[in-house]
Amino acid sequence: MQTNIIGYNNLKRFFKNIIERKTPFPQSLLLYGYEGSGKYTLLKDFILSYLCQEKSGCKNCHNCKLILKKEHPDVLFLPKEKIIKIETIRNLKTFFYSPPSELEEKFLLIPCIENMNINAANSFLKMLEEPPYYLKILATSDNYNSLLPTIKSRFMNYHIPILSDEEYEYFVKKIKPEIKENELVILKHLTHKKPYKTILFLEKNLIFSFRKDFINAFVNFVEKDDFTGLFYILQQCIKQDIEDFFYEYLLLLIRDLIYLKEGLFQFIVNADILDKISHLKNRFSYFTLWSFLDLIVDTLRVGKKFYDREFYLERILWNFYKLKRGLSWQKMNIQSHY
Ligand SMILES: [Zn+2]
Repeated sequence: MQTNIIGYNNLKRFFKNIIERKTPFPQSLLLYGYEGSGKYTLLKDFILSYLCQEKSGCKNCHNCKLILKKEHPDVLFLPKEKIIKIETIRNLKTFFYSPPSELEEKFLLIPCIENMNINAANSFLKMLEEPPYYLKILATSDNYNSLLPTIKSRFMNYHIPILSDEEYEYFVKKIKPEIKENELVILKHLTHKKPYKTILFLEKNLIFSFRKDFINAFVNFVEKDDFTGLFYILQQCIKQDIEDFFYEYLLLLIRDLIYLKEGLFQFIVNADILDKISHLKNRFSYFTLWSFLDLIVDTLRVGKKFYDREFYLERILWNFYKLKRGLSWQKMNIQSHY
């Protein structure tokens, strides 16, 4: 099976046996796990290899070409949608109930199945009660806990684990062979080993350029109460669609300051710039640093749902400023108003 997705060797072995027709194709399969793990791509590559006339996902045979052009009459990959509405499910019915025209089976791929709203889910469940024998349904979920138990029970459920350190290192070095050891450690912490985020951060060359500016801006903020640098970087991150970098790196700096205070140097991620940050640790009490960690996590959790991203990220900075001046920050208890 050809795929660019690294790791998940047990699952790949399982797929290989199906592609080689040693194991039957499951009637329905749900891959769940963290966002950006490559579940959707993996399933697409699996279907392609299974249906490829060369059994490899050659991209050149009749089946491969039609599938890649999204023109195969017996293969349907739904696009990712933030909300899957009942219209989408209604439109599926023709595909669902008409027998295959070129193959012996039909293949349906549904990404982020938890995004079905309640009407869509109920309608889909009705269809799943007696699915046609020829239909194979594959789905992914980033948020397994929010998925209806009745949907889960209709699928063979497979959990996608986070990459091991070795797998992650292999993955990063394939993209950027010249990466330095300390940069790899920083990247691992910033992305939590999520492949999609890693590719994005590497493409934008963040570790190597943005980080320096970020640290200078952070030092200015702490020492001179000068916001401008951090705000500028925040704006840049939003513009480039990588605001995750902004708060993940902020979290990482705070985390390092806490370890510095504890004298636990082996856990410090930004070890190469200790001279730049080590004196900052005395500017904050433990209480302020811990509160700041809480503040970021809390603001992201609530803010992501209710505000535009610029507002809630700016709010992190304002509240940090307040904390630093010994004032308490105001929690965003927005949910109670809804
Ligand atoms: Zn092929």
